[in-house]
Amino acid sequence: MPADDAQVPSFKGPEGQEDMPYLLTPGPLTTSRTVKLAALADWGSRDIEFRNLVKDIRNGLKTLSHCDENYECVIMQGSGTFAIEAALGSFCPAKRKKTLVVANGAYGDRAVQILERIDRPVIKIDKGDSQSPTPAEVAAALDNDRSISHVWIIHCETTSGIINPITEIGHEVQSRGRVFMVDAMSSFGALPLDMRRDSIDVMVSSSNKCIEGIPGFSYVIVKRPLLEACGGQCHSIVLDLYDQWKGLETNGQFRFTPPTHSLVAFRQAMRELEEEGGPPARLARYQRNAAALLDALKAMGLVPLLNDNERGPIIQTILQPKDPNFDFETFYKGLRARGFAIYPGKLTKKPSFRIGTIGRLDENVMKDVVAAIKDVLAQMGVTDMSPAE
Ligand SMILES: *Cc1c(COP(=O)(O)O)cnc(C)c1O
Repeated sequence: MPADDAQVPSFKGPEGQEDMPYLLTPGPLTTSRTVKLAALADWGSRDIEFRNLVKDIRNGLKTLSHCDENYECVIMQGSGTFAIEAALGSFCPAKRKKTLVVANGAYGDRAVQILERIDRPVIKIDKGDSQSPTPAEVAAALDNDRSISHVWIIHCETTSGIINPITEIGHEVQSRGRVFMVDAMSSFGALPLDMRRDSIDVMVSSSNKCIEGIPGFSYVIVKRPLLEACGGQCHSIVLDLYDQWKGLETNGQFRFTPPTHSLVAFRQAMRELEEEGGPPARLARYQRNAAALLDALKAMGLVPLLNDNERGPIIQTILQPKDPNFDFETFYKGLRARGFAIYPGKLTKKPSFRIGTIGRLDENVMKDVVAAIKDVLAQMGVTDMSPAE
């Protein structure tokens, strides 16, 4: 520990773990004490109460995404990428037809990488790091290539924090009779999402983002006919959504050991989402977090990557100051010593850092992180906040 860190007064972290930093990251994120406490019990995976809990979660997720009786929810063990690979492998065509990935960041690129690895024909619209795709260009791509049968897009591209216009793009995809698939990993539970209004056939998310659960599983909401038709299509046994669904439907059980603690904590997280007022109230809190953070950082002269129309309330990308005294590792450690864990940037071209504005935290935490940022930058001797060109 450098000497200056020793002089930092001890910080106060989240309730119940005051000696640990707030996670200003888009998952795992800071959860409530009660969500963590719910995990303090050993449930048997075949236990009748546990099977009811799994049923409650599957139904609750369908309600949250505005499904009618034509949709199913399949839970998959593992982080979000496991459900992504499961959905791509179970639903995307292996020959003759192809999948269009609309990419504007690392998560779009990763979907392409998965499809290539499992030998599924794929083409991509590439908008770089931080540009939004337009409904018109997706429509044109579909009109130009009749062999595109599936479209994959990210709702909130966590690389930059940009929100893509899924409602409008979904309309173009559905009206042309193609399958619309959405990675809503970092948005579901806060940003509005409606499977029917948004013309979504397949949606993927996970336990540890806006629903504020702990990591351990992911899930796929899908129109039943698609699921019924996908038997035997997946490249993988463990990721096969059809087999996973059949297991859950037949006896309410997972085929392989489920993350019991994580599921129990998630049911508590779903209750707390409802108590807060559902996704609209959660969105409003995240929006207050993002506004409090960005207003203060802009007043200091720091420059966010996105303008207010493009950025979402999930994660904020800030361009690194060009001042030669700025060093990300030192900045990160200084904030960590003051009780905040932030995220490095993921842009390919511009040096940046990211601050998550989701999780069990509010504007007061944001005020404290701004004070910590000021303090650390002053200690580093950073005065010129303007970004490098
Ligand atoms: C978090 C996230 C994922 C999944 O990442 P995991 O590390 O596998 O949980 C996928 N897509 C987006 C947009 C994300 O934010």
